[in-house]
Amino acid sequence: METKNTTANSVNSVADLAQSLAGQSKLPKVGTTIFTVMSGLAQQEGALNLSQGFPDFDGPAPLLERVQHYLTHGYNQYAPMQGVPALREAIATKVQDLYGHRPDPDAEITITSGATEALFCAISAVVRPGDEVIVFDPAYDSYEPVIELCGGTAVHVPLLPPEFAVDWNRVESVITDRTRLIITNTPHNPTGSVWSAGDMATLAELVLKRPIYLLADEVYEHICFDGVPHESLCRYPDLYARSFVVSSFGKTYHTTGWKIGYCVAPAELTTEFRKIHQFNTFTSNTPIQYALADFLTMHPEHHLQLPDFYQAKRDHFCALLGESKFAFTKAAGTYFQLVDYSAFSSENDVVLAERLTREAKLAAIPISVFYKDPPDAHYLRLCFAKDDATLERGAQILCDL
Ligand code: GLN
Repeated sequence: METKNTTANSVNSVADLAQSLAGQSKLPKVGTTIFTVMSGLAQQEGALNLSQGFPDFDGPAPLLERVQHYLTHGYNQYAPMQGVPALREAIATKVQDLYGHRPDPDAEITITSGATEALFCAISAVVRPGDEVIVFDPAYDSYEPVIELCGGTAVHVPLLPPEFAVDWNRVESVITDRTRLIITNTPHNPTGSVWSAGDMATLAELVLKRPIYLLADEVYEHICFDGVPHESLCRYPDLYARSFVVSSFGKTYHTTGWKIGYCVAPAELTTEFRKIHQFNTFTSNTPIQYALADFLTMHPEHHLQLPDFYQAKRDHFCALLGESKFAFTKAAGTYFQLVDYSAFSSENDVVLAERLTREAKLAAIPISVFYKDPPDAHYLRLCFAKDDATLERGAQILCDL
């Protein structure tokens, strides 16, 4: 009898416990990400998926061969917590070749489980309760939840259409004594805009005289078009001294599902970063790290040719969309093209994205969800990291609207 009562009581208390967790969520505003929602809807509706950003083609064959090699030659146990040394060496060489600064592979480079993990660790390393973090809207959706988990507050500076350029006066106006971190993202997802050397100079003027850290989300560093160079924070020693620079192999090698990224940061910042990384994931996939090390060393032409590869796709897709009712300015970077649909609809972008997926069988990403205060604008984001046949099918659907 007593046992029965105990069981009944514990069932009640477990139910209460679950309910109270929902009531006291650490992230009450957070739902399921738009990428999961739109890819799920695309699958359910049998729609062409130009929403979530991922290629519909594989990474280079020699890279896949290297993974196969390491998988079948005993490289299947924990990698070092900091990442495989050969991969950190290869990254140091690449960063030096491209941006002129050679980070110390032992003290300044950490391999992570995707850029997402690196962003989490970097934000957690510096943001404390009461701190403010400046983010540029439309902002990649993983930043703010981590800021909030750390007890900080995101301060949103909008990038407004049609240029989506930074209003630096507005940035200066929101800096306070509590500003701890600014998160930059160039090339920018979802707008496809790219920062100039002038932007970096203004950023320097604002932060160098203040105790503010920088977190640079540079996952599209190798997808910058029309000969414009990527402005990495690694190029600027004064800025780098206070920066976490994050990148992802998923974008560069057409392997978003492998979830391997990295963070380059000065030694003192890396020490704090690793304290969190080692108790978050501890380390990342071993055979893939070895394979990436070989490929990065043997085939630097892959990342050097990536701008041309994606520029050809952008140009092909945009030429086809020229026949549609959409207005657009070609993306300056990333593998996303924004299109303005105001010529044929005044619908909210979330509503339109869902309707297009169900009715026209094409899925896109609405960008208002990445703004705290969405501007009165009508844009969808289309991913052009697709085979030509897919781009042609997508463009046909969009031209028929
Ligand atoms: N970064 C990818 C995009 O912008 C999606 C990543 C994700 O699904 N979390 O589409």
